[in-house]
Amino acid sequence: MSQSIVFFAITTTLSVLESIPTSYYQTFVLEEKFGFNKTTLKVWLTDMVKSLLLTITLGSPFLYAFLKIIEVYGVSFVSYACGLVLFAQLFFMTIAPSFILPLFYKFSPLEDGELKTEIEALAKRNEFPLKELSVMDGSTRSAHSNAFFVGLPWSKKIVLYDTLIEHNTTPETVAVLAHEIGHWKLNHLAQLMVATQGTLAFTFILFSAFLGNRAIFHSFGFHGVYPPFIAFTLFSYVSSPLNCLFQFGLNVLSRKNEYQADQYALEQGHSDSLAYSLIKLTTENLGTIDSDWLYSAYNHSHPILADRLSNLGYVSKEKVGDVKIAGAEKQD
Ligand SMILES: [Zn+2]
Repeated sequence: MSQSIVFFAITTTLSVLESIPTSYYQTFVLEEKFGFNKTTLKVWLTDMVKSLLLTITLGSPFLYAFLKIIEVYGVSFVSYACGLVLFAQLFFMTIAPSFILPLFYKFSPLEDGELKTEIEALAKRNEFPLKELSVMDGSTRSAHSNAFFVGLPWSKKIVLYDTLIEHNTTPETVAVLAHEIGHWKLNHLAQLMVATQGTLAFTFILFSAFLGNRAIFHSFGFHGVYPPFIAFTLFSYVSSPLNCLFQFGLNVLSRKNEYQADQYALEQGHSDSLAYSLIKLTTENLGTIDSDWLYSAYNHSHPILADRLSNLGYVSKEKVGDVKIAGAEKQD
């Protein structure tokens, strides 16, 4: 058991080390070139060390519990392991963000004003249990913008990136949140969790067939000792093509949900503001405007901009999203 935990810590560290060159290139060359990078080498390095330590300290107890379940229940571990993963998912969605995110970002309450009043009114109209409204200094790392919820079902915190507020008007930010509240109201998160639990149960059932199979250990050079963690690692290599199938299914579900959440915002009268903010988000983040439908069907969790706009019934009346990217212009 302790060997497995140490093995997990070592392989995790190695994979982080292995990712350094590409991650460096992505942040300081590619993102830099298009004006998105706002981080410094020091912040980038400390962020990496912090997330590695977090992965090991938070991952180890869950791994220990997982291995213990296999030790106790043998091949009938599936339902217990699914329960453990469900617990981990809920933990990382509800409680963990309140102490993990502050390690990386600073949070401040949203200042009183039009935006705050509008968001509070929106939450009230939709019976959304809004407890706290925070602004996160996303601009210290990147110019990409976003918004999300954290917290328990009965007490939620809305977090807005400072970049989102900066680039959008009040009605546009409210429209983005109306879309997010749509996801909440239509139980999209629960749907996603049921889908992931389903795929997970399927993976575990397949794994249970591998667990007692010595052939796979032997073909990878393991003789004499047969730790479950090694079995799971080898199994993940063999089963990885299945993940492509799962990913495809999850993306289909996610795109359906995006349309529904857009529709929800539309029904509340935010269609134009949402369209404007989607155009801005896509142009400012230099997102893909168009894409082959087959490529999109497999790779994209969100429908492409053109499809979302036509779903919203948006008709262009004026030129919006006229954003000049300094770096990109110099290239031309
Ligand atoms: Zn969405």
